[in-house]
Amino acid sequence: MRLTWIARFTFLSLLVLGAAVTQTRPATRWYKGNLHTHTLNSDGDSTPHEVATWYREHGYQFLTLSDHNYLTDVAGLNAVHAARERFLLIPGEEVTDRYGDKHVHVNAYNLSRELQPRHGNSVAETIQNNVDMIRQAMAMPSLNHPNFHWSVTKDDLLKVNNLGLLEVYNGHPTVNNVGGGGFQSLDEMWDTLLTAGKRIHGIAVDDAHHFKKMGQEFSNPGKGWIQVRASELSAAAISAAIERGDFYASSGVVLEDVRTGGGEYRITIKERPTERFTTYFIGDGGKVLAKSFDKKPAYRLTGSERYVRARVDSSFGASAWTQPLFAR
Ligand SMILES: [Zn+2]
Ligand SMILES: [Zn+2]
Repeated sequence: MRLTWIARFTFLSLLVLGAAVTQTRPATRWYKGNLHTHTLNSDGDSTPHEVATWYREHGYQFLTLSDHNYLTDVAGLNAVHAARERFLLIPGEEVTDRYGDKHVHVNAYNLSRELQPRHGNSVAETIQNNVDMIRQAMAMPSLNHPNFHWSVTKDDLLKVNNLGLLEVYNGHPTVNNVGGGGFQSLDEMWDTLLTAGKRIHGIAVDDAHHFKKMGQEFSNPGKGWIQVRASELSAAAISAAIERGDFYASSGVVLEDVRTGGGEYRITIKERPTERFTTYFIGDGGKVLAKSFDKKPAYRLTGSERYVRARVDSSFGASAWTQPLFAR
C-alpha cells in the first residue's frame, strides 16, 4: 500500500503522540531498601562507606544511614556508589530521645538538616514534639522499636498525630517485636492504631549495628527491609511512595505483586522450593477476616471494613506485611 504524504505525516504524528501518552504513565518497579542502620557516626562498627557497600552488594537499591542524633552527609557516598550500580542513599537520622527510663527513638527520612531531640513531659509528648520537628523539616517520621525497654505503648501512640510510619519489625535482637508479659506485639499495636483511625504504614528494618561480627546476639544486616513500588530511584519518588503506602515490609518473604482495586485485595507470593505460606487478611481490632494457603491469596471486601491489611507467614519463619487499604 502506498501512503500519501498526508497519510504518512498523520501516521508519524500518531506515533509521536502515542509515545508522549506512554511517557505520561511512567512504568513502576520494586526497589528494595533498608531504612534503619548505624555506622561509626554513632554506635555502629563500620564506616558509612563499608555499610553502604554491604547493602549495595547484597541486592538493595536504597539505604538510610540513621545514626543517633547525627545526619550523615550522603552526597559523596551517592557519587561513589551510584557510579557502580543503581544505588541510592536517602539522608536520615535516628532522633534519639528519652523520657525518664523510656527510650523514644523517632527516625527522620529524606532529611536535609540535622535535628536534635526536642524532649517532652510524657512519652506521648516526647514523641509528638519530635514528630512535629521532623515534619517541620519536611522529612518523614517513623516510630522505632516501641517495645525496646518496653518504652512506648499503644496508649502513648494513640495520643500522637502525623506519625506516618511504625516499625512492625526491627531486626535488633533485644527489641521485643512479638511483645509478651502483657505488652502488645507490634502487629497488635499497629492494629490498635489503625482501628482508632490512624493512617499509619508499617515498615520492617534492620537497625543493624554490627557488620564485622555475626551471630544471634548481634544486630546484623539483612533481616528486615521494605520493597517500594516507584517510578524511579530518587529520594523524592521513594519517599512519596512510602508516604502513600505503596510498599510492603518483609523479614524474608518476597512478594511478586500486591494489588488493590475493584473491591479486592490481591497478593502474589514468590515461593521457594518446599516453602509454604499462610496469609492472614486482617481488619478492625486485628480480627482475621480470611486465611489463605494459596500462592495468590485474595480478599473481596464486604464494605463493612474500616481497613484491610495482610500478613504472609512463611513456613521458613519469616513474614511479609502489606499496607492497609483504608476502605472508609
Ligand atoms: Zn533506636
Ligand atoms: Zn537504631
